[in-house]
Amino acid sequence: TTRIVLASRPVGKPVTANFRLERETLRDLDEGEVLLQILYLSLDPYMRGRMDDAKSYAAPVEIGGVMEGGTVARVVKSRNTEFTPGDIVLSHSGWQSHAISNGAGLRKLDPNVAPISTALGILGMPGFTAYAGLRNIARPKVGETLVVAAASGAVGSAVGQIAKIFGARVVGIAGGPDKCRYIHDELGFDAAIDHRAGDFQAQLASACPKGIDIYFENVGGHVWNAVFPLLNDFARVPICGLIAHYNEDPSTSRGSDQLPAVMRAILRKSLTIRGFIQREFADQRPDFYREAGKWISEGRLKYKEDIVDGLENAPEAFLGLLEGRNFGKLVVRVAQS
Ligand code: NDP
Repeated sequence: TTRIVLASRPVGKPVTANFRLERETLRDLDEGEVLLQILYLSLDPYMRGRMDDAKSYAAPVEIGGVMEGGTVARVVKSRNTEFTPGDIVLSHSGWQSHAISNGAGLRKLDPNVAPISTALGILGMPGFTAYAGLRNIARPKVGETLVVAAASGAVGSAVGQIAKIFGARVVGIAGGPDKCRYIHDELGFDAAIDHRAGDFQAQLASACPKGIDIYFENVGGHVWNAVFPLLNDFARVPICGLIAHYNEDPSTSRGSDQLPAVMRAILRKSLTIRGFIQREFADQRPDFYREAGKWISEGRLKYKEDIVDGLENAPEAFLGLLEGRNFGKLVVRVAQS
């Protein structure tokens, strides 16, 4: 088996030297186990957090440990009565070509329902994150203005489209003209703003003439700074991700302290700012699979995958994700299905 381990912890921006490719011979299966061949590996921003030895909602990857990650795999050998060779499953096998599992946590996928890679994207964790944040925290009402950043990405593209289904007016923020064109022309967002444009803040303000009722936060940084003054009274701000800050050392001071202004606005405008991790709402996953499946078949929920070939290319692709070089849900094709 081939696998990619964490060779060292990054300081600031990760580099490819933080990863190491290793080969290993797999042991034989015990009773109750299955051998999985990984077909697709999901690359997600949360993996940056797992590279740090810092307190978080999940334990870090150990030095020398296999990088964690969601995967779609084929059962190639089985000593477990619930699985037959040829079954396609969703697993959490990490950055490797093969894995042994006792079957716990595996979910069988039906390749006839949707392309199997979608179990890592639109019909998987990122799609569910969008749905859960909207349904439980944002609660868009018809005619309200919702702004979402990283809007062409796995979570953001689903946030905008589902919010439109719920009747909101949707403004997407994305990096560069191609991503902006895509969310406006193909996904039907009402407006698309490039956060790299010099007059980004002014463009955002004119795209939101009635202010912002919901800001689905995926980014932080300069995008938050532009959004913050436009928040309306009673705005809801699900804090889903802060990718602009993932390479920062949290102990370093950041100069001008925005906190007092933020706290004052929370009070004065009765804002609801609520962090969440999607698994908190895990009991809503069946609803999500049902509704999202229907929206996809009706053509109301579209998705784009950015597929990179070869496990050995995962580190470079992951570094690109942290800089916006991906266009759509980033997935590594580890083996041909
Ligand atoms: P994406 O597919 O959206 O890829 C990440 C994107 O972030 C990049 O393409 C880039 O888009 C944007 N980006 C990166 N750095 C910056 C920056 N400095 N400033 C502005 N934009 C930046 O990833 P996901 O959809 O998987 O994740 C989106 C967010 O959701 C992340 O913050 C992630 O951590 C979070 N998340 C949270 C979950 C939860 O349960 N709370 C679950 C899943 C994801 P662009 O080129 O448009 O700038």
